[in-house]
Amino acid sequence: MKYDEYLAKGREDKDDLTIWLKRLKKKNPRKLDDVFQKHHNTVFESIDCLKCANCCKTTSPIFRDVDVKRIAKKMRMPIIKFEQEYLRKDNDDDLVLQSTPCPFLYEDNSCGIYEVRPQACREYPHTDQRKVVQVLELAQRNLDICPAVCQIVADVKEELG
Ligand code: SF4
Ligand code: SF4
Repeated sequence: MKYDEYLAKGREDKDDLTIWLKRLKKKNPRKLDDVFQKHHNTVFESIDCLKCANCCKTTSPIFRDVDVKRIAKKMRMPIIKFEQEYLRKDNDDDLVLQSTPCPFLYEDNSCGIYEVRPQACREYPHTDQRKVVQVLELAQRNLDICPAVCQIVADVKEELG
């Protein structure tokens, strides 16, 4: 299946999956972590993010202060200039990109600041993190963005019912 087909399927099933994801909060958290981790690993074996980059094209990571410091240093820019040029505060007062696609995304879908990219980019789409129960709402939102999440959630649902 192509990535846009995963996304189309995720969007088509989103209402059902949203209700089902809410029910997962009652499951054993450790078991849930293990099941998500397993399907995350399997799905990413066959997904090449360099052929997708939809996250980098359509959303912004949160930039923590430590991310800003590290990236500005790498770019040899004063922190204040980096923030003025690239970042803004969102409604939750988090620092995010002023615009999408991400200005550090190259045409070949590689990341221009890969070694120093924000922690949020390293961890996206968060489906392999421990205490995954805490990010189920994020997984639900990512059904619109990430083909891998669409497939991981579908696979977890098939296993857990
Ligand atoms: S993490 Fe998801 S949205 Fe981002 S590039 Fe990989 S498959 Fe695409
Ligand atoms: S910093 Fe890199 S990984 Fe993060 S959104 Fe931008 S291009 Fe993607």
